[in-house]
Amino acid sequence: MSTRFGKDLTRRGFISKVGQGLAAVNVAGTLLSDARAQLRVPEPPGKKLGWAIVGLGSLSINQILPAFSKCEKSKAVAFVSGHPDKAKKLALRYGVNAKNIYNYENYDTIRDNPEVDIIYIVLPNAMHAEYTVRGFQAGKHVLSEKPMANTPAECQQMIDAANKADRKLMVAYRCQYEPYNREAIRIARAKELGPTQMILADAGFPMGDPTQWRCNRKLAGGGSLMDIGIYALNASRFLTGEEPKEVNAMMYSTPGDPRFKEVEEHVTFQLRFPSGILSNCSSSYGYFHQSHYRVMGTEGRLELDPATWYSGLRMWIERGNVIDSIDLPVVDHFATEMDHMSDCVMQNKTPLTPGEEGLRDLKIITAIYEAAQSGKTVTL
Ligand code: NAD
Repeated sequence: MSTRFGKDLTRRGFISKVGQGLAAVNVAGTLLSDARAQLRVPEPPGKKLGWAIVGLGSLSINQILPAFSKCEKSKAVAFVSGHPDKAKKLALRYGVNAKNIYNYENYDTIRDNPEVDIIYIVLPNAMHAEYTVRGFQAGKHVLSEKPMANTPAECQQMIDAANKADRKLMVAYRCQYEPYNREAIRIARAKELGPTQMILADAGFPMGDPTQWRCNRKLAGGGSLMDIGIYALNASRFLTGEEPKEVNAMMYSTPGDPRFKEVEEHVTFQLRFPSGILSNCSSSYGYFHQSHYRVMGTEGRLELDPATWYSGLRMWIERGNVIDSIDLPVVDHFATEMDHMSDCVMQNKTPLTPGEEGLRDLKIITAIYEAAQSGKTVTL
């Protein structure tokens, strides 16, 4: 079969191709591909932990709340919002008791609500630290959206508050919980394509309304790098399993564009890892919607494109003159991520992406901004 690459393409199914790295999702994938699964009656869900969603904006309404219907261990039981009408409507839709609707002022009284086990912070970046710390002071576990906070110092405050309260802190790096990215991590780290030589990773979309918080430096902490460049950075780290030791960077924003008065439009950055792997990344609020990465080894390459969309992820692996298209189970990233957090709370385990993971990214992001501003390589 010819492909856009003009090479042989095969399409490999999940069962024939994928190895052990996906044990958790294998179960779901096998069931899906097994016709007999249609005859099985699913077990009733076991214990579900209660979640409070803080901030009922686009991500909460369009992704997180619908995802609860696919959760095995998590249920929405409370909302925190500055818009009572919106919160009441959503409470009716998702079966949340109206008495469990809080606002930003009485949020701390959530400590008296035994139905709430975990708080999910889905607010503008600048608010993550404050609402996470208040969540821990209320005795709850916290999942914070990415980026974890605006500065490494705020990330550290969140980690310290979690430790003081003896509660779990997780950062919502949903891609680390879904099968395509997990399989890419497994292949790259197992050196199945030979040792990785280089990674290319890009993430961007054209920014819209200049009045939104993403264009406000105080609320967003930065521009495309903070919002989506973090995906390229996080992927470079999780694909190598290493921490970069040097960064270079350049930034550019279209002069006079009202969207980029306070935050940057484009960033390119390079990372040097201890093993010698180089990663070349970009983020943009100007270029066409895209999010992909390539892992180039000595014997082949792996490509994920798109790599971070909520659905429709695609993977290719090229070895010799053959390109395999890899099919894996499709899961709801948010349901998988929330159930992981619930599981960690129930089993007293450390989440796969704890606060320290968010802090590492923020330290590197800070170095990337420094490199772009100084025009010099920054050593980490
Ligand atoms: P949004 O603007 O749609 O929603 C933000 C919510 O915060 C709104 O309900 C708004 O009313 C509330 N809010 C409270 N105080 C505010 C203030 N001072 N200014 C502006 N809004 C205020 O944003 P979103 O896209 O839902 O993003 C929320 C968080 O989720 C961000 O940290 C973002 O980075 C993250 N996010 C993550 C993903 C992902 O795939 N994991 C995707 C989108 C957004």
